[in-house]
Amino acid sequence: MSTVEPVTEHQAPVSAHREDFPILARPMNGRPLAFLDSAASAQKPACVIDAEARCYREYYANIHRGVYQLSQRSTDAYEGARKRVAELLNAPDHREVAFVRGTTEAINLVAHSFVRPQLQPGDEILITGMEHHSNIVPWQLICEETGAKLVVSPVTDTGEVDLEDFRGRLGPRTRFASIAHVSNALGTINPVAEMIAAAREADVPTLVDGAQGVPHMAVDVQALGCDFYCFSGHKLYGPSGVGALWGRFELLRGMRPYQGGGEMIRYVTFEKSDFAPPPQRFEAGTPNIAGAIALGEAVDYVRGIGLERIGAHEQALLAYATERLEAIEGLRIIGNATHKAGVISFVLDGVHPHDIGTILDQEGVAVRAGHHCAQPVMDRFGVPATVRASFGLYNSREDVDALVNALHRVKEFFG
Ligand code: PMP
Repeated sequence: MSTVEPVTEHQAPVSAHREDFPILARPMNGRPLAFLDSAASAQKPACVIDAEARCYREYYANIHRGVYQLSQRSTDAYEGARKRVAELLNAPDHREVAFVRGTTEAINLVAHSFVRPQLQPGDEILITGMEHHSNIVPWQLICEETGAKLVVSPVTDTGEVDLEDFRGRLGPRTRFASIAHVSNALGTINPVAEMIAAAREADVPTLVDGAQGVPHMAVDVQALGCDFYCFSGHKLYGPSGVGALWGRFELLRGMRPYQGGGEMIRYVTFEKSDFAPPPQRFEAGTPNIAGAIALGEAVDYVRGIGLERIGAHEQALLAYATERLEAIEGLRIIGNATHKAGVISFVLDGVHPHDIGTILDQEGVAVRAGHHCAQPVMDRFGVPATVRASFGLYNSREDVDALVNALHRVKEFFG
């Protein structure tokens, strides 16, 4: 087993950054909180909380409009955050990054502004069998409206995409492919570069749902070769209600707005409106100004620690947790892909996941129990729900030990 985290002479272990997160210092039922639900939403470091508060305390005003200093400062900070997100994704141009509410809104935006106008009856949209509902339902909605068809590349028994199957489903009617970078329910890291390359060969544009990718690894949209990439700020230690969509400029430039309103126009008359160029075209109305600024701070924070280091730390925890959980009799891990991020879904013989979650909570261990907004994945593996433990940079072996000990309590309780 590898060590939990690479420690150099000058660097504290990644998990020492737990101290940066005020909420993690608060006990839960008299115990240190073992927060193992970062895949649902990550906790926030003080610097992110402070950045948002500082904006409201010191320089808040609406952006892109005021000639006064506060508005200019807010605008600079907001646009600075856009540049940080572009750097995080290695986007060639910060004008390719639009702030949105999160992954869900980004996918809906692409579905309505890019894909829907091209769809004819009988056209196809390709996804995988392990998508989050937010990468299923928007496509179903536009298929229903246009007579297009949603095609699904199924998940294997180990919880992986079958690349040959995926390739085989890219047909002459495929208009778009939308795939998760990492499955939130199984932890599988998909071979997105290969999937995108296959789609490109078939002339099919792609979107990568990076909600579970960006927090765990360095992402380079140019190396991936996708056309769109999106993520949610709240899973990247940033605020909720803000996220980002990256898209190739030449595609964004040709797209219709998703919503109409202020800020996204060049000129409006009652007869016709002329739209602003991207990204403003996709940011109708007053955005989550302080949230976007704090997301920029979160980007600096994770880059300061290093996404490779965070990823390596979580991989070591995943290996440790997998070994310890597999040793529990009656416990079955759902999703055994070769490449996984720090997400473990499991079921325990004879105990409903919700009961497990409730008892773990009493032991100070926070996990998610349910279908994880991925009901087709639950159906695929024949379970109504799972318990999911997911890791963030602040987790340590102690959190895993707390989980394992609490699971033994569950077993005692249910005999
Ligand atoms: N895709 C994946 C893979 C996710 O894990 C999530 C959040 N659980 C989403 C999309 C949706 O993200 P949000 O709710 O932040 O829009």
